[in-house]
Amino acid sequence: MNGFAIAIDGPAAAGKGTLSKAVAAHFGFAHLDTGLLYRAVGAKTLLGVEPIEAALALVAEDLDAEGLRTPDVAQAASRVAVIPQVRAALVDFQRAFAARSGGAVLDGRDIGTVICPDARVKLFVTASPEVRAERRFLELNAKGDPSTRAEVLADVQARDARDMERVEAPLKPAQDAVLIDTSDLSIEDAVAQAVAIIEARTNGG
Ligand code: C5P
Repeated sequence: MNGFAIAIDGPAAAGKGTLSKAVAAHFGFAHLDTGLLYRAVGAKTLLGVEPIEAALALVAEDLDAEGLRTPDVAQAASRVAVIPQVRAALVDFQRAFAARSGGAVLDGRDIGTVICPDARVKLFVTASPEVRAERRFLELNAKGDPSTRAEVLADVQARDARDMERVEAPLKPAQDAVLIDTSDLSIEDAVAQAVAIIEARTNGG
């Protein structure tokens, strides 16, 4: 039997990362932020590497590179993410992670729909674009990034559009995903909801 996988998808800055880390810690599972794969490929294209070549050459250590969390790299990530060969090159790494024994939480855009269609639990985490942009703005601002609120909102909206409208693995909830809207939830409440959903699903077999 494959490992116990939990798929957590949703748009940029919906709180997936925080939620996924907390859920993984709660259940003692490993966590993979799959956005980092696309960010690592995007970062290499900013240095002039061809996207498919960068995706084929990706190694786990690339995910620890400095500077993957900047708005420029986020945009580059969402541009390379529309290329089917880039996505294909990253599938095996993600599936191997999902199948590891001891359980895994993967967060991204297409985990429940494409990467782990058989995940034991699928969550789709969302929030309004304004709430997401404000959270991302505060996060970037705290790190000294000079982006304005308006720039961050435009960045979030551009990535939403690109992620939802692409032909290959577009961002959308899996049919059997449970939705969590974090617009009016504290982190603690969002984590409590997610844990309750996962426990309910798993106790039911
Ligand atoms: O989640 P994060 O904001 O780090 O993702 C960066 C970009 O990578 C997204 O905007 C999206 O275009 C792409 N991505 C994807 N599929 C995933 C994870 C991320 O297409 N599973």
